Amino acid sequence: MKVILAQPRGFCAGVVRAVETVEQALEQFGAPVYVRHEIVHNQHVVQTLRNKGARFVEALDEVPENAVTIFSAHGVASDVESEARERQLRVLDATCPLVTKVHNHGRQYAVRGYQLILIGEAEHPEVIGTMGQIPAPVALVRNVAEAQALTFPEHTPMAYITQTTLSVDDTRAVVEALKQRYPQIVGPDTRDICYAVQNRQTAVRALSLCTDLVLVVGSVKSANAMTLCDIAGAHGKPSYLIANGNAIRREWFDERTTVGITAGASTPEALVDDVIAALARIGPLEIETLPGREEHVQFRLPTGLIARQ
Ligand code: SF4
Repeated sequence: MKVILAQPRGFCAGVVRAVETVEQALEQFGAPVYVRHEIVHNQHVVQTLRNKGARFVEALDEVPENAVTIFSAHGVASDVESEARERQLRVLDATCPLVTKVHNHGRQYAVRGYQLILIGEAEHPEVIGTMGQIPAPVALVRNVAEAQALTFPEHTPMAYITQTTLSVDDTRAVVEALKQRYPQIVGPDTRDICYAVQNRQTAVRALSLCTDLVLVVGSVKSANAMTLCDIAGAHGKPSYLIANGNAIRREWFDERTTVGITAGASTPEALVDDVIAALARIGPLEIETLPGREEHVQFRLPTGLIARQ
């Protein structure tokens, strides 16, 4: 069997920063530290941090007074920030700087009086956080049909922002629909959403073209991993979103299958290794990595932590 690995794949700079925030907090302040929501959407990562002393909660009222409290990479609404301040929790904000950038864009548009549209999935914590950061009404639009169904008057000043982890192609289609309906609408270039999402989607497209089947290693909760799986599927290749090597089914392959592997932005490389090991138990492997974009993005740790030397 031939295995082709997508490049880039797996951890992005926002996830590296978020995971390191929890690890450093444990090291510098001692266990337990409290993390609001899963730090990133990957069970393996969450369990590993839990084993080291991180406690994951969904609401701040589960956090004891004065405890070290970390906001996840997805970001939080401003009322969560206020609640943490009122309770004098020691907050480390691991919100990805690219998500913060979306919050800032949204706030600026709102202050300038634009009717704001957020392109995203209603239940996603990033979307909940972003909507809660904008001090004005925000209309949530998930797809082209919803964009076409908007009823704001024709000449309303409009602006859009987007969830970071969506399919770049789908988002572009929604933006086009918004522009048709409201030609005056303004917003960031869709190529500007998130370098990591963009790069992983470009890579899985290339992978789909040279493989018989694509495995996306990641969690079902991970929006960006699911999008990678959808993109491979849209290229006519069977594609499976799997958490680790245990999820592999023998009947998906025969000895001549060329298998493509990629991983969502919150998936550690150890899980890709686990998948490769599971394939190697089926038969001998020839492994190569597809050429792709190199990434050198790094984000500084949040205020309140001492950076590792
Ligand atoms: Fe940040 Fe992009 Fe990673 Fe999300 S996928 S955490 S926006 S770098």
